Amino acid sequence: MAANTQDQQSQAGRHQEVGHKSLLQSDALYQYILETSVYPREPEPMKELRELTAKHPWNLMTTSADEGQFLNMLLKLINAKNTMEIGVYTGYSLLATALALPEDGKILAMDINRENYELGLPVIQKAGVAHKIEFKEGPAMPILDALVEDEKNHGSYDFIFVDADKDNYINYHERLIKLVKVGGLIGYDNTLWNGSVVAPPDAPLRKYVRYYRDFVLELNKALAVDPRIEICMLPVGDGITLCRRVK
Ligand code: SAM
Ligand code: CA
Repeated sequence: MAANTQDQQSQAGRHQEVGHKSLLQSDALYQYILETSVYPREPEPMKELRELTAKHPWNLMTTSADEGQFLNMLLKLINAKNTMEIGVYTGYSLLATALALPEDGKILAMDINRENYELGLPVIQKAGVAHKIEFKEGPAMPILDALVEDEKNHGSYDFIFVDADKDNYINYHERLIKLVKVGGLIGYDNTLWNGSVVAPPDAPLRKYVRYYRDFVLELNKALAVDPRIEICMLPVGDGITLCRRVK
């Protein structure tokens, strides 16, 4: 029993080195998923963008390849056409989205940092999908407030991916619920927050993990009781909660 616990702890320790990439209990299992069904089917531009992003100092922020594959299929399944992304970084999830949308599909993408978006942009252009993207530089909140002010935007989005400042998700939600159509989806990313949502109060957590943890916990509680949506929390990547607007 003691040996087993020790083994579990060392697994968890090794696992943390993978960062946000997976919450699976074994790195080997995660590698198996990547090597068997993700990398062999990854579109060439996504591979190029993933490899380019891997050289960037903040590469821990990128969407994992398995989550990119998941988003790409999800968007096709729901026939998404008009979409939004909050938190672009170098654009891996953005490219997964752009590749899934029809030729006349649209993504309103926003990030406070244009530089990182521009790092990935040549790959997105080469993939022939840049015309689907409208990038807005700046904090998301005032952009969302302006969208909400114009009634014609209400109920107009098929899919919204939220992958930015976790302390604002709950505030974004009140705006996004108006902008997404009834039957449409909002995906909140990192809702398992590196597994810290179940960490004991005295657990040794990195400073930023500890800081955002309470906001993620608060969001998860709020989504679970929100009658305007149906939810499904998936252990993909760092956890993604899909919210389907029902009223
Ligand atoms: N989805 C991206 C990908 O696939 O690589 C990863 C996004 S990264 C986890 C979070 C991003 O949110 C960063 O690029 C950061 O600049 C952006 N961000 C942080 N605060 C923001 C805000 N208030 N409004 C918009 N973007 C914000
Ligand atoms: Ca994320």
